[in-house]
Amino acid sequence: MFRLINVDGRAALQIGDRYHDLASVAGDERLADPMAAIGRFDELHEFAERASAAAGEPVDADRLGPCVPSPAKVFAIGLNYGRHAAESNMQLPPAPLTFTKFPSCLVGPTADVVLSGDTVDWEVELVVVIGRGGRHIAEADAWSHVAGLTLGQDISDRTVQLTGAPPQFSLGKSFDTYGPIGPALVSIDQFPDPDDIGLWCEVGDAAGGERMQDGRTNDLIFPVANLVSYLSSICTLEPGDLVFTGTPDGVGAARGRFLRDGEFVTSGAEVIGTMRNRCVTPA
Ligand code: ZN
Repeated sequence: MFRLINVDGRAALQIGDRYHDLASVAGDERLADPMAAIGRFDELHEFAERASAAAGEPVDADRLGPCVPSPAKVFAIGLNYGRHAAESNMQLPPAPLTFTKFPSCLVGPTADVVLSGDTVDWEVELVVVIGRGGRHIAEADAWSHVAGLTLGQDISDRTVQLTGAPPQFSLGKSFDTYGPIGPALVSIDQFPDPDDIGLWCEVGDAAGGERMQDGRTNDLIFPVANLVSYLSSICTLEPGDLVFTGTPDGVGAARGRFLRDGEFVTSGAEVIGTMRNRCVTPA
């Protein structure tokens, strides 16, 4: 079992509320790079066991970067929960409706989201982190290619996303800072059922938020194994590739309410933990 975090750009293993620098634990400086650590995710279980014997340093959420800082590919799936498809007035897709978030949008779990306009929206999502690459991965083998799971916000500028016919989603979801992920990459063996994880999102001022989204991943139309298999039938998957698996209902567009300067987006998932991102307007 392991929780991999990014502390000031270095890979670290979290145990309880403390962390251990991975390269130091492993005696291998190459593992300071979080991307290298993900490529060797099989070894992280043993390193975490080794680290648990030592005291470690307290985790400071403000020092956490994205647990996967520079993946080659970031896939994202639209309309993967039935009620979200309904609130978006769109039909259920016959195959995973896939777009990209360019990796430059990724930020850490406490980073500011820099608003691009007045129709910027939240989408809490489970994010799959590929650990072992491959092509034509069978659904039955798919979980063995997954390094772990994290939480993400697929922040979306609805105006940019939905301009044109047919609309092209990728740029409206790729503004810098529109991909908070974290707080940790969590190994699969920590989940009672990795296909049934509760996740939620709250939006509000510093004092408190309103619960906007509340879902479970057992409602996914295309579950994780199906997505990994499908995507690998088209693209060679590589360690570190991310899949944002879609968002439950309760987004702002369906409420006529969007993110404003100074608001906080708080996202949570069982086992994985929480993220808190403040919204700011560009300086
Ligand atoms: Zn999304």
